[in-house]
Amino acid sequence: MAVEFKIQKFFYPVDILRLKLSLDRSQWFSKEELQTLQLQRLSLILNHAYSHVPYYRNLFDSLRLKPHGIKTTEDLSKIPCLTKSILKKNFKSLTANNARKFNPQLCRTSGTTGESTEFYQDRPSNMLEFCYYWRYWSWAGYRLRDPFAEFTLNHFLNDGIDQTMDYAPLTNRLMLNPAQLSHAKIDTFVSALKKYTPQFLKGSPSSIYIFATLLDKKDISPVKFKAIFTTGELLLPHQRKRIEDTFLCKILDSYGQMERVAAICQCPEGQYHINSDYGLLEIVRGSVVGTSLYNFSMPLIRYELNDAIEINTDSPPCACGRGLPLCQTIIGRTQDIITTTDGRFLSNVFILFDILEGVLWSQIIQERINKIKVRLVRDKNFSTKSLEVFMWQLRLLLGKETEIEIEYLSENTLPALLSQKYKPIISTVPHESNQGTI
Ligand SMILES: [Zn+2]
Repeated sequence: MAVEFKIQKFFYPVDILRLKLSLDRSQWFSKEELQTLQLQRLSLILNHAYSHVPYYRNLFDSLRLKPHGIKTTEDLSKIPCLTKSILKKNFKSLTANNARKFNPQLCRTSGTTGESTEFYQDRPSNMLEFCYYWRYWSWAGYRLRDPFAEFTLNHFLNDGIDQTMDYAPLTNRLMLNPAQLSHAKIDTFVSALKKYTPQFLKGSPSSIYIFATLLDKKDISPVKFKAIFTTGELLLPHQRKRIEDTFLCKILDSYGQMERVAAICQCPEGQYHINSDYGLLEIVRGSVVGTSLYNFSMPLIRYELNDAIEINTDSPPCACGRGLPLCQTIIGRTQDIITTTDGRFLSNVFILFDILEGVLWSQIIQERINKIKVRLVRDKNFSTKSLEVFMWQLRLLLGKETEIEIEYLSENTLPALLSQKYKPIISTVPHESNQGTI
């Protein structure tokens, strides 16, 4: 999951402050108080869905359900889960007939299964995302506008792919380009960090791990942060160890998704808290199912995420004192690192999949250092124009020396592809993360 905050999306200072204050309070609520709050938000969403979302009106009527009849999370389970394929087939009828009121924006993600999904995010959901991150980061001492560094490939796509960094004075944020991580450029990254002295670093586990590994190979004086925030993929134990040892601080890891139906983040005690005031998280047949408590333009109710977690139902409360429930293990997406012919180490290239229109499933395989295969399953809405943009971006990232082949798989192969453990990027080129060495 990539989160790219654009300041204009969040320019509602009074509403944002109000929501932030309410989230600051609710994190300390008791289990019962949190449940009450969650069910109040759920009731708001269910009533809205019944009144304004044709798909849910029909579904509720066919089940002889009324929103006020759903008073507990057990009642909620009477509503069948929403899969990605149901969402795809019913996109229009899942859009609220008054969506415009909430400033909807169309988003696309390839998620953790490679299965492409489109949906709307809106203003209340943007506000929630902003306040959620603000609260989570504040657990490590962050205050708004504290100097912050972030590895973000999204920021550098299009014109900036050759840039190493970019600084945004308004938000006091130093954006670092993970596509430029290499032995040759490591000093440039370090100089930027020493110049802007960010107190926090955010990024995917793999990009920060590559950065830490490159730093370890060089005898550079340590770069220190108050905390590091990881997100977007599974943080592996060896990655955590190297990153914490290199930057002499703790990682506060998190789990979320573009659809914003559930959020989990680590507190300074090292426990993973489920943000039950953000979304309603259930475990169905071992997988995460989430219900958005804030997105009105397209309410996603009991949305299947295909990630696995284990919840601690009867564990003692966390030593940090927060009432937000705890979970134990998160089994999310992992990926390999692509090594380029000019010595860069690329992670998170899968965000390019979000460019592709009319693609049901996607994967990148690096067969040799100069040979990449892109595997795609198309549907009838496949857009060759979006493929051109995707290929252009991919070429910029990989460099001219690399041959790119596209393999189209038949739509019939989709069930088999989705039943396998998915990796968005597979590389057979040796690399420390791929059991080789940098
Ligand atoms: Zn805690």
